[in-house]
Amino acid sequence: MSAPTVPDGERRRGRQSPTVRSLRTQNRAVALTHLITEGSSTRAELAAACGLSPASATNIVGDLIAEGLVAETGLLASQGGRPTSLLEPVADGAYLIGADVGERGVAVELFDLSMKRIDREFRGGRMEESPDAIGNDLSDAVEALRLRNAARWSRVVGVGLGLPGIVETDASGEQTLYAESLGWPPVPVRPLLTHDLPLLAENGAKTQAKAEQWFGAAAGVDHALVALLGRGVGLGVIVNGEVYRGRASSAAEWGHVSLDPDGPVCRCGRRGCVEAFLGAQAILDRWSKLGGTFEGSGWGAIGELLEANEAGDAAAVSVVDETVATLGLALGGLVNLYNPERVIVGGWVGMRLMPKLATRIEDATRAAALRQPGAQFTLLPCTFGGDTVALGAAIMPLELLVSAPLVEEQSRAARSAG
Ligand SMILES: [Zn+2]
Repeated sequence: MSAPTVPDGERRRGRQSPTVRSLRTQNRAVALTHLITEGSSTRAELAAACGLSPASATNIVGDLIAEGLVAETGLLASQGGRPTSLLEPVADGAYLIGADVGERGVAVELFDLSMKRIDREFRGGRMEESPDAIGNDLSDAVEALRLRNAARWSRVVGVGLGLPGIVETDASGEQTLYAESLGWPPVPVRPLLTHDLPLLAENGAKTQAKAEQWFGAAAGVDHALVALLGRGVGLGVIVNGEVYRGRASSAAEWGHVSLDPDGPVCRCGRRGCVEAFLGAQAILDRWSKLGGTFEGSGWGAIGELLEANEAGDAAAVSVVDETVATLGLALGGLVNLYNPERVIVGGWVGMRLMPKLATRIEDATRAAALRQPGAQFTLLPCTFGGDTVALGAAIMPLELLVSAPLVEEQSRAARSAG
């Protein structure tokens, strides 16, 4: 796993309120981020990677050890001098919950501070979920995790939700889900969870982009596109090291950018959206119209299409050619807009397409982009599969922990408030 470049303490604060933080709190955030993404580090490596002086690094590490978040776990021989100690996050020092709230159910996962998944609950499995059902499922699953992890529960930082739609946050911090393409009314987020834990929500594609940014194919770059093709089509845009949100967070709803006003009808009711061409059902519908036959509507069916394409089946070849051309056209437009360093293609359909078609998708994308930006990106598959929404969602409480003020500043603030 490569180290994300962390230019300064402002990085990766995400949507945390822009309150004034001391340099030491900013340094704490950078150092803790480095240790969690790297897994281990010496003080000297930490200082060099985070742009800290050796004295600052020593102070910050002392603070993190006192908080129980970091520990010395061993000694490394160093050239000539005394051995240096190896630092690692304390897995048991804090816990994060991430939930993937999908159209088919709610997967709730508990992660330790090394971001290892240690427990999981799934609720749902109905054909179509409703806002009431997901609230019940979420609270029920979190309660099951609480009962099984009682000794850890006081160190749970919060719950992050990856939701299937636009998630807006108002001035008071209240969040609302707008899942227009599922036909849901606006859903207030806070009532979905009955437990008294910090609750943070984000669009599922944006949480997956966060996972790629922290631990996957987008690590270490400040400008990336994470395109997710599945039943729906999503996008996360990383600009200047942050997942871009726009005015009220709906930025990057690429799935509903129309490529053709006379094109096929989309789930959102409009015509010719990217999703209406590149969503799994759209691809399979085209194949079916040309006489293709397949089992089901998912992973296996897209696999059958790719196999038929390889075997030279005319209908499958035509559908795959059109899919590659349309994906290249849609990605090329994004490349012109954002000048990314990396274009990352994932989602379960993307993961199906990439092993066989990456070169063709890359060529089609470069051909659809202007020459300069078209020559400046690398196209890569996602590191994580479609089951990463929960990991990405758990990064929201992780960011809360990382950006928290130092304990001594918290108590100073409490004293001055009292
Ligand atoms: Zn649409």
